[in-house]
Formats: sequence, structure tokens, C-alpha cells
Amino acid sequence: MTHHFDALILGGGAAGLMCAIEAGKRGRRVAVLDHADRLGKKILISGGGRCNFTNLHCQPENFLSSNPHFAKSALARYTPADFIALVEKHRIPYHEKALGQLFCDRSARDILAMLEEECRAANATIFLNTRIQEVSRTTEFVLRSRTAEFQAPALVVATGGLSIPKIGATSFGYDLARQFGVKIREPWPGLVPLVLDAEDRSRYCELSGVSAEVTASCDGQQFREKMLITHRGLSGPAILQISSYWKKSEQVSIDLAPEAEPTAIFRDPKTPRTLTTLRSEFRKTLPARLADRWLDHHVPDSWTNAALADFERQAHAWAIVPAGTEGYEKAEVTCGGIDTDELSAKTMESRKVPGLFFIGEVVDVTGHLGGFNFQWAWASGAAAGRAL
Ligand SMILES: Cc1cc2nc3c(=O)[nH]c(=O)nc-3n(C[C@H](O)[C@H](O)[C@H](O)COP(=O)(O)OP(=O)(O)OC[C@H]3O[C@@H](n4cnc5c(N)ncnc54)[C@H](O)[C@@H]3O)c2cc1C
Repeated sequence: MTHHFDALILGGGAAGLMCAIEAGKRGRRVAVLDHADRLGKKILISGGGRCNFTNLHCQPENFLSSNPHFAKSALARYTPADFIALVEKHRIPYHEKALGQLFCDRSARDILAMLEEECRAANATIFLNTRIQEVSRTTEFVLRSRTAEFQAPALVVATGGLSIPKIGATSFGYDLARQFGVKIREPWPGLVPLVLDAEDRSRYCELSGVSAEVTASCDGQQFREKMLITHRGLSGPAILQISSYWKKSEQVSIDLAPEAEPTAIFRDPKTPRTLTTLRSEFRKTLPARLADRWLDHHVPDSWTNAALADFERQAHAWAIVPAGTEGYEKAEVTCGGIDTDELSAKTMESRKVPGLFFIGEVVDVTGHLGGFNFQWAWASGAAAGRAL
């Protein structure tokens, strides 16, 4: 059986659904094809089940890409306010958490139901459980599954990244890009916990569950947020954020006492220069168990001014070289992807292969933690949907 459409959208996640809605609203006959048994599985598990669907303070600086200017156009033409208007039209209750992050009051299911309803209103056709075995291009794109053939002059690839394979992530988008000679930037897991080396694990992982506000830095970037010790390493927002910038064997620096000066007390000549005093000062900036454990491994060599200054310096720049990350199994996003030089920033269409579009996480644009990845999915999906 052969189905004809104006456009085929491969992947029914955040970006693919937004693209279908925008194109359908403009009268295009579009089909969304997904190998999963339901749409938007990642939306459902996002934001701890409450979907952090956008961020009020979305700026191009909140994204990693080998071309930092690429995302600007799409982000400017579909803004957080546009998505909020849609959420409000559907009367979905939401709230702002810290730092402009908007979450559903009830459940991420509200966002998925909204997108499904908009797809219906836009007459988009959905094909679930559809595994595409072959893609070719003659005058049109032809996609073959075991039981059907789909043809259209335009193909939008919205198959996402490699994160969380157990809910259906595949390398399909990257493979298709290679098939059509579209360059990709080697992907790597982002927003992912870091694994400590064996020595640091034995020192700190016993404290699994302890968290502290720190500033984590790497590759010229820094994030001041919570850090959490896990049974294999470090996690929490500060670490997830910096993980996207981390490359194997690079150092991550952690300021354990941002804006504090644990050794300041020793400027008073009456203060006894003892470990007990230093411990009690350090406990003012860190949870006691972490302060004590870190101090056990960083006791000052002596109580001279120079040794105390060295301790202070180390506390503000705890240098760790992680053994690795928890990988795609735990990564919230995939960094890298379709090289933005290959795409029109306005429409997401391939410069080399007319009619072929790439949107969402499969593209080399990755947001920080905090609703930015969905905003990119909505914005890039809308950009392509308006161009179909
Ligand atoms: C646990 C978790 C929590 C997250 N929380 C947030 C959050 O709160 N806020 C935020 O902004 N971002 C969050 N993210 C990131 C966000 O979910 C993604 O960036 C976003 O979903 C990307 O949208 P997408 O449409 O590009 O890809 P996806 O949403 O991954 O959709 C891709 C679709 O393509 C389908 N597909 C894949 N391969 C094939 C194939 N071969 N054939 C057919 N279909 C295929 C998949 O089944 C899926 O439906 C979270 C991610 C995770 C893993």
C-alpha cells in the first residue's frame, strides 16, 4: 500500500509534533511516522513527570552548538511566549520553578495531550509502530516499512538523539544524514552524571545522597547550582550542566565554597590555627559530612599563611578528572549531531538535499538544563513546519 503526503515527519516527539501542527495548520497534508507504540514518550518522562516545557529567560547563550549563531533565527520566531500561549489556550495549569523554568502543575501528560489535540485539529495523520527499513529519493522521498510505502516531496527528520535507548532512541537520524551526504558532528552524551575515578569514588561515594551548592567549571563555562554525590560519582544540576561541556580526560573544577572564605577566620591572630577551627568554618559552607570528608583528604600541610592560602585555593577549585560519564543510558540529551553548516537557519532544510529537513535534538544544537531543549524542539519544529 502506498501513502502520498505533502510531507513525511519521521519521529513523533516534541519537534516532530510541533512541525506537524504548524504545517498542518497551513493546509499541508502531513504524516508523522514513529516506530514506538505511542507518541512523545520522552515528553512523558521529562521534568520528573511534570515536563519543564520552556524557560522564560531563553537566550541563544543557553545553547551549545559549533555555530552559536545558528539557533538565533528559529528561537526568535518561536519564543517561550508562543508556547505559553498554546499551553494557556488549552487551560493547562503550570508554575514557575527557579530560574524561569516552567513546569506543569499536574503532569507532562497535559503537554502531550495538547500536542495530540493540535495535531488532530491540523489533520496530521499519525502512523505508530512504523519501522522504516529504507529511504530513497527519486523525484520524491520514498520510505518503506514492512507493510507500506510512504511518498512525499519533503522529509523531516525528527528522530531525536541517542539518549535513553530503552524508550526508543535510535541513530536513525544520523544514519540517514550519512546516507544523503549530510555532515554530522560526532555526538556525545550531555546533561549526564559524571563518574569519578576509583580513588575519588572510594573517598566520596559513601556520601551518596549528600548535596551542596557549588560552582562547577570546565571549558570556560561555569554553573552555580546544586551538586549531588551519587554511588558512582557526581550529579545534580551543576554537574549535569557542566557535563555537556566536558570531554574525556579534561578537568572539572568545583568551587566548594562559592562566595565564602573558610580560612578568613585565621586572619584574627587570636583564632587558634587548628583543624577543629578549620572544620567548623568549612562546615558553614558545606554539609558536615562532605566538609569533613573533603578535609580528611585536603588537610593543610602546615598552619602558615601560605598553607592556608593553598587550602583556600583548593577549596575554590577542587580539580577532578572524571573517569567518564553515565553515558546515553542516563543522559538527558545528545550533544553534537547534524552539522548546522548543512542547514538553513531559517527553515532547517538541508542546503545540499532540497526537501530534506532536520529538527530537534538530532541537530547540533543542545540546550542547558531548564526547559531549553524543549524550546529548541518547539522552535526548530515550527521553523520547518512553516517552510513545508
Ligand atoms: C529523562 C529526561 C528528562 C528530560 N526533561 C526535560 C525537560 O524537563 N525539559 C526539557 O527542555 N528537556 C528535557 N529533556 C530533553 C528533551 O526531552 C529532548 O531534548 C526533546 O524531547 C527532544 O525532542 P525531539 O523531538 O528532537 O526528540 P524526541 O522527543 O526524542 O523524539 C524522537 C522521536 O523519534 C522516534 N524515533 C526514534 N528513532 C526512530 C526511528 N528509527 N523510526 C521512527 N521513529 C523513531 C522516537 O520514538 C521519538 O518519538 C529530557 C530528556 C530526558 C531523557
